[in-house]
Amino acid sequence: MRQTFPRSDQRHLYASRTAVDGACPSCRAERLEEYRVLSDGGWFDVCKCRECLTSVRRVPAPPFGSYRPYVFVISDREVPNAQR
Ligand SMILES: [Zn+2]
Repeated sequence: MRQTFPRSDQRHLYASRTAVDGACPSCRAERLEEYRVLSDGGWFDVCKCRECLTSVRRVPAPPFGSYRPYVFVISDREVPNAQR
């Protein structure tokens, strides 16, 4: 079987997170971060508090996460967000 992606050279994989301005509505900590998660129901783009893990925002992401199926690559189309 042919592999489309090379094997990672990193020992541990991690999701990159982006710091967001603002305070948590639950604990008032100013440690909000945005990142993509895979949970029950598929992929979501979330904004969560690093202190108490309260979800400030949770938006459905593309159904395959960062993976873009080849049919969308060759047709230069964007993968639509999942219908929930
Ligand atoms: Zn919090």
